[in-house]
Amino acid sequence: MVRINENFLELQDSYLFSTIAKKVAEFQKNNPDKEVIKLGIGDVTRPIVPAVVSAMHEAVNEVGTNSNFRGYGPEQGYEFLRKKIVENDYEKRGVNIDIDEVFISDGAKCDCGNIVDIFGIENKVAITDPVYPVYLDTNVMSGRSGKYNKENGKYENIVYIPITESNNFKPELPEEKVDMIYLCFPNNPTGTTLSKNELEKWVKYAKENKSVILYDSAYEAFISEDDIPHSIYEIQGAKDVAIEFRSFSKTAGFTGLRCGYVVVPKALKGYSKDENEVSLNKLWNRRQCTKFNGASYIIQKGAEAVYSEEGQKQIKENIAYYMENARIIKKGLNDAGFVTYGGINSPYVWLKVPNGMTSWEFFDKLLNEANVVGTPGVGFGNCGEGYFRLTAFGTKENTIKAIERIAKMK
Ligand code: PLP
Repeated sequence: MVRINENFLELQDSYLFSTIAKKVAEFQKNNPDKEVIKLGIGDVTRPIVPAVVSAMHEAVNEVGTNSNFRGYGPEQGYEFLRKKIVENDYEKRGVNIDIDEVFISDGAKCDCGNIVDIFGIENKVAITDPVYPVYLDTNVMSGRSGKYNKENGKYENIVYIPITESNNFKPELPEEKVDMIYLCFPNNPTGTTLSKNELEKWVKYAKENKSVILYDSAYEAFISEDDIPHSIYEIQGAKDVAIEFRSFSKTAGFTGLRCGYVVVPKALKGYSKDENEVSLNKLWNRRQCTKFNGASYIIQKGAEAVYSEEGQKQIKENIAYYMENARIIKKGLNDAGFVTYGGINSPYVWLKVPNGMTSWEFFDKLLNEANVVGTPGVGFGNCGEGYFRLTAFGTKENTIKAIERIAKMK
């Protein structure tokens, strides 16, 4: 009899996006004449920029020739892309990263999920609440979460760190000792960021407690304010304590092409049971070589073109387009009397649901009265209750229309 991984039975079904889809479908069936505007999803809509498209065309032609055919590539990614990442994403910000500290992948979701392979089951995990749900669920699957408590909606072995209005969306250091700390800034879903000083606090904590910080900066390209760090390695000493996840998905519209990377510094150590130091870079390399055969050559050529002069110019135009939407959403909502967060260094605007409504009640109101779809905050964690996420990834025309309709709601 084949036995299953019992940890999967501890997962709580997420009905968030399926419930949204069901509610929207029902509304559209009952109101066929109403135009519904969707500002709920976290997927991009602008096409891949010409510099990337032409690099991929070239790569396609190359692999169709005898002389330039490519088979399996390096599991860690091609050197041409790793080098561009080191030079552009790090050296330009005064951070030294070695090429063999960068591992190319088919996206940050896989990296964030797979990284748990190299950590012991007994580690205490801390996650901010609300946050991108992958960190929690992958720790549940690997058996690190303990049992789910239906009464308080929490897992027994997870330390939840609230990020809400009451702490100005700045996570406070946990009172108990934790080993693996997930930080995602600019944050999905709140769109809020951490300053260098605030990040320093976490690096210091991790050093003192021999913990690791798993830093997801998938949205760093949307940072507009000068004093907000794009990488955790801008903090002195962070290479001793942090792994960083990055993605081309939101930066360059690769959600469908799939490319991301993770930085695992060689200085970063974990500990064996007998308290010997072990290089996490070596463990991750071993894990990738065993379970991953590298990202596609064609896609990596496309990602390389993101760093070309035209590529940079073109992706920045797309980012500016989305950030103009974010500005329209934030300003429109503020003018209409809503309290909003995020939207300045992030494509997400996090609004406080008015009049003590729940985030699902507000979802229904918005759908019925303004015919606009957003995402209820509670779908990202208990502390997201009472908040609502709108995204800047729609078209400008629809964004303007949606905000005008919301402003007219009673
Ligand atoms: N990290 C965060 C915080 C995200 O919001 C997302 C996608 O929405 C990802 C990672 C996944 O990125 P990728 O498309 O590279 O898998």
